[in-house]
Amino acid sequence: MRKAIWLSLAVSYMAPFKVKINAETCIGCGVCVSMAPDVFEMGEEGKSVIVEKWRTGDSPYEGEVTDEGLKDTVKTAADSCPTNSITVEE
Ligand code: SF4
Repeated sequence: MRKAIWLSLAVSYMAPFKVKINAETCIGCGVCVSMAPDVFEMGEEGKSVIVEKWRTGDSPYEGEVTDEGLKDTVKTAADSCPTNSITVEE
């Protein structure tokens, strides 16, 4: 029973969430980078990109974060984006 509880907690902690940046509307202000540098960084084109560790596929603008502890910070960064360019999906 105890093992099942720990396993459940571990799975819950690792629940991934998806993050997308709309490169068309990103103005490169850097707010998300300063608020959540573990997930966002400035790309060569002056737009925010997902740090390589969390990227999925070929696009630097899409990723999946498996560290549940970063979710609130990323959501706050998304809410702070002046152009609403960040989408967080559970
Ligand atoms: S906060 Fe929004 S507009 Fe600013 S760099 Fe991040 S995604 Fe781009």
